[in-house]
Amino acid sequence: MNNSSIAPCGVICDICLGFQRSKNKCVGCNNTGNKPYHCTVCSITNCEEKKGNKKLLCYECNKFPCRRIKDLDKRYIAKYGESPIQNLRRIKEIGLDSFIESEKAKWKCSECGHLLCVHKEVCYNCGNLNDYFPTT
Ligand SMILES: [Zn+2]
Repeated sequence: MNNSSIAPCGVICDICLGFQRSKNKCVGCNNTGNKPYHCTVCSITNCEEKKGNKKLLCYECNKFPCRRIKDLDKRYIAKYGESPIQNLRRIKEIGLDSFIESEKAKWKCSECGHLLCVHKEVCYNCGNLNDYFPTT
């Protein structure tokens, strides 16, 4: 995880299944290369408010939080118990570097040290339980 790991919407690419898996691996939102189709057509990354600066984090926008990001946030909270909007608010408050450091510590698997995956209830590397995954 580093300062290019945060998508404009506040999603942390390094803890995404697409980023962690070995097959058909995604390069992450801020990098050029293989990405899932829905990420290449993402209405947030391609938002006209960014005026060509795709790396602009959404909290820097006058329209934040817009409907698009609120919709994403709702889905993320419901499915994974995580809020991209909250991530962006924390970045604004404590700065990107401190945010990255705290997220690295938060998502570190207590068994193997690998980053946990927000999309999986167990560590993708060792199978240890992901305590942040919502129980249904
Ligand atoms: Zn693990």
